[in-house]
Amino acid sequence: AFTLSNPARPVLLAAARSERLERMLSRSKITRSLVSRFIPGEAEEAVMEAVGRLLAAGHAISVDYLGEDISHPEEADRTVAAYVSLLEAYRRLEVPATDGVSRLEVSIKLSALGQSLPGDGEALALRNARTICAAAETAGAWVNVDAEDHTTTDSTLGIVRELRKDFPSVATVLQAYLHRTEADCRDLAGAGSRIRLCKGAYKEPAEVAFQGKEDVDAAYLRCLKVLMEGDGYPMVASHDPRIIEAAQSYAREAGRSPHDFEIQMLYGIRPEEQDRLVGEGLTMRTYVPFGDDWYGYFMRRLAERPANLVFFLRSLVGR
Ligand code: FAD
Repeated sequence: AFTLSNPARPVLLAAARSERLERMLSRSKITRSLVSRFIPGEAEEAVMEAVGRLLAAGHAISVDYLGEDISHPEEADRTVAAYVSLLEAYRRLEVPATDGVSRLEVSIKLSALGQSLPGDGEALALRNARTICAAAETAGAWVNVDAEDHTTTDSTLGIVRELRKDFPSVATVLQAYLHRTEADCRDLAGAGSRIRLCKGAYKEPAEVAFQGKEDVDAAYLRCLKVLMEGDGYPMVASHDPRIIEAAQSYAREAGRSPHDFEIQMLYGIRPEEQDRLVGEGLTMRTYVPFGDDWYGYFMRRLAERPANLVFFLRSLVGR
């Protein structure tokens, strides 16, 4: 089973930042075929095909245009354009919200919108995020602002607070492995607040984050309880059977109906379980990434699960 203390994890998460390895792996056909397990395609058409299939099977979706840590504002322009075009495609789907829940969402990363560019990076990211939120509003879609490494947390929460003044349904992500997160959950568990809770996918130092799986899982359950007992809309992002069970029982104890919270999983991970939860009448949102900048995302998935890594290495050596 996965553990945050998996010895390969720090190496893989460091490799996720290596441009050399990225160039090497991106050229390999084998990598590309493995990547397709987690990413339905690079083009909008490919992701919309996957979205169509998931919606028809009763899932809600959140699409992420892959990209992070840009170095020029023009790269952010490309990302904004990709989201605006995607949201146009959402409009054509005409999927109505049910019980106040939009089945259509986009997930955005502020680092891809300019957040860490020198000078006015944060202001640029806020402007870009606003453009995406306005397009989403027209399409009847929700927007979620993803969480990245801990050095960005304060800035991200600040930008989300600004966005919510004009677009109150904007959601964000809290990462249970950070020591600060239980307090952030208390701050953000109010009415109208949508919070995705995940364990956290980055390599973080012990000063700011729990390191062992048991500590992270325990922190997740504490945070989940705070969100479920609050007045907001908790979004439980995890593939962990223990977490999914706890979410259902905390929700029952807090008197929540299946429309008052949702479960979220990543495209290609435990797909049968995702369908089973849909069958149980839960809101199940599948996070679907697309685009050609898949390297960092793919490496974080390998780091999470030794089985994924073994599968990958076996295919590289041809057995
Ligand atoms: P893990 O501890 O990885 O796994 C626990 C158990 O789940 C395993 O023991 C196994 O039983 C089961 N399991 C897990 N994977 C598989 C598999 N492939 N096949 C079968 N069983 C499996 N992280 C961020 O830092 N920022 C974000 O914005 C963010 N957004 C996310 C959005 C969504 C919708 C999801 C699902 C995750 C997101 N993450 C994000 C990633 C997250 O932080 C974790 O790194 C990732 O979800 C792995 O943790 P886990 O809770 O799934 O459980």
